[in-house]
Amino acid sequence: MSYFYYFLVFVFGLMVGSFLNAWIWRTRENLSIVSGRSMCPRCRKQILWYDNIPLISCFLLKRKCRHCQEKISWQYPAVELAMGILFLLVAYLRKGENTFVTLEMLRDLGIVFFLVFIFIYDLKYKEILDMAVLPLTIIVYLASVAENWQTWQSMIIGAAIGAGFFFVQFFISNGKWIGGGDIRLGLLMGVILSWPNIIVGLILAYVLGAVISLTQVVLKKKNLESETPFGTYLTVATFIVMFWGDQIVGWYLGLLN
Ligand SMILES: [Zn+2]
Repeated sequence: MSYFYYFLVFVFGLMVGSFLNAWIWRTRENLSIVSGRSMCPRCRKQILWYDNIPLISCFLLKRKCRHCQEKISWQYPAVELAMGILFLLVAYLRKGENTFVTLEMLRDLGIVFFLVFIFIYDLKYKEILDMAVLPLTIIVYLASVAENWQTWQSMIIGAAIGAGFFFVQFFISNGKWIGGGDIRLGLLMGVILSWPNIIVGLILAYVLGAVISLTQVVLKKKNLESETPFGTYLTVATFIVMFWGDQIVGWYLGLLN
């Protein structure tokens, strides 16, 4: 594919990132995403189209609302840029021979969109929303069966392990160690990664959690208040294993031999 194609994919990703920011905020505020124009979270004045260009407007405005001068959070440009890069990466990894779009590409763009939603929402508000997790679980399951991406058996085993793993912890600790949201996220992970890669995803999430927590302790930035929610590690691990799960398993088995 040409550079121009990837440039368009990147710009599309930026726009999706802009939409994602708006959707996260509107979900939190109980506002509909389909009605009403973009508005400033503080003064609620409508944001005009030229102040709403992903990445660019934010810097032209020096990260301030044109009307009330409220600082625009770093979350906005960061999510836009991240979505641009992620879309570029997915399009490259799932590219087809002679087509601009493959079904696998659409599937993974959609999954990445929801994983980023879950990641940011959990990081910001410490909550894993069922409205993002459960519909995606069902859609991925049905599409995977229809398109023969995974067998239904391997997805059911994956989902049972993913959800079961967290359910046991939830049950033993009476809901103190983890929340119900983690159980449902485990279910989603199991359907996306399926057996046996769900195991890799769970292990990787704990490795990521340990590495980041240790880094925070070393940098003395850790206190109980700032603890990173576990759902964020689960989403990152799911993303990595979706694309590089087989390589990770191969690398690990290589270490054993
Ligand atoms: Zn404002």
